[in-house]
Amino acid sequence: MIIATTAAEVRRQVRAWQRAGLTVGLVPTMGYLHEGHASLIDCAKRECDRVVASVFVNPTQFGPGEDLEAYPRDFEHDCALLSEHGCDMVFHPAVEEMYPDGGIVTYVELHNDMPKQLCGVTRPIHFRGVCTVVSKLFNIASPDKAFFGQKDAQQLAIIRRMARDMSYGIEIIGCPIVRDADGLAKSSRNTYLSPEERKAALVLSRAVRLGEKMVAEGETRAAVVLNAMQTLIEGEPLALIDYVSAVSLDTLMPVTEMKSGVLTAMAVYIGRTRLIDNFIIR
Ligand code: AMP
Repeated sequence: MIIATTAAEVRRQVRAWQRAGLTVGLVPTMGYLHEGHASLIDCAKRECDRVVASVFVNPTQFGPGEDLEAYPRDFEHDCALLSEHGCDMVFHPAVEEMYPDGGIVTYVELHNDMPKQLCGVTRPIHFRGVCTVVSKLFNIASPDKAFFGQKDAQQLAIIRRMARDMSYGIEIIGCPIVRDADGLAKSSRNTYLSPEERKAALVLSRAVRLGEKMVAEGETRAAVVLNAMQTLIEGEPLALIDYVSAVSLDTLMPVTEMKSGVLTAMAVYIGRTRLIDNFIIR
């Protein structure tokens, strides 16, 4: 596996592959990789001839007081997992490589309500940072396809819209949520949880399962489903709800009816750790 630290190296290698007629898939990550990330690499391997992963903790998507400094990092372990899954190149830039001379003044941002909903309420600059760094990665790696997890469903919806609006010509592929055996959605931030909090965190996936079951049994009123999910979460003393919402997968605007194309998403604090989970009605 090639380890690249500069944009120029990535450009050169991807161009060489594409000149040779090979398709390239990109998997952007912030590192501290787990089986959820690995599933994106596996999916990219199936769909593309060559796979590039990026490992970069992007400062512009963290707000003041968030966990930028504390965010877990282990590049050696990341490389082992990536090469085990057949990743061809990892791009691991320093902050200065992505944001030279102290920063940038050009941002990519959606000017509709999508970045203001759900996580956007407590993280107002988050999606501007995400869109900007993903846009930079698209320009650096010029992949044929890019792979994102449904775990971050709002991010996936926003990136789909950005790619369409900006005419990237890159196919955006969403991959299912990978969970631990007991249901907890895998996340780099799970490492923050104490053993007691780890148990309490199961309330998120239990709420997802409850919501899915109610919908499967025919409940169509969003308020009824959301209420039941909220009540379940509130029963866990270590949990504090940020939001539990049902929105249209395309616009991220709230809906009243549970039907195909509805995303039910939540963010819940377990102690000081903010976790997210969701389900989509197909
Ligand atoms: P992150 O490193 O948290 O920025 O995540 C990088 C990519 O991996 C994003 O597209 C995430 O949605 C995806 N991802 C993270 N956790 C999971 C998971 N449990 N299952 C599937 N995809 C995931």
